[in-house]
Amino acid sequence: MFGPEFFALSGAHAVDSGEGFGCECAICRRAISAPHRFQGRVVWCLYCGLERGLVPPVEVPGGFEFTSGVTREEAASITANATRLDEWAIERDRAHGRLIEI
Ligand SMILES: [Zn+2]
Repeated sequence: MFGPEFFALSGAHAVDSGEGFGCECAICRRAISAPHRFQGRVVWCLYCGLERGLVPPVEVPGGFEFTSGVTREEAASITANATRLDEWAIERDRAHGRLIEI
């Protein structure tokens, strides 16, 4: 399978938040950080993912699941739902138990 399992924002977001570990982009060697479950996996920075068309260049309502970047599955899901991102975000938040029904 081409590409990484996680696309990370540059900097130490995951380290600062306790969500993960520091590493570097497998392509450009930029300093990045990723959630713990991606330790030992291939991780790219968000820029390399955008440049290669693996991360859609869109603003996601409510942000990504992780503060430090986007998973391969989430990026693919965003691409598949590019025309209905508001509904997609509501379904995502409901699935993660982040949406409180009133
Ligand atoms: Zn990179």
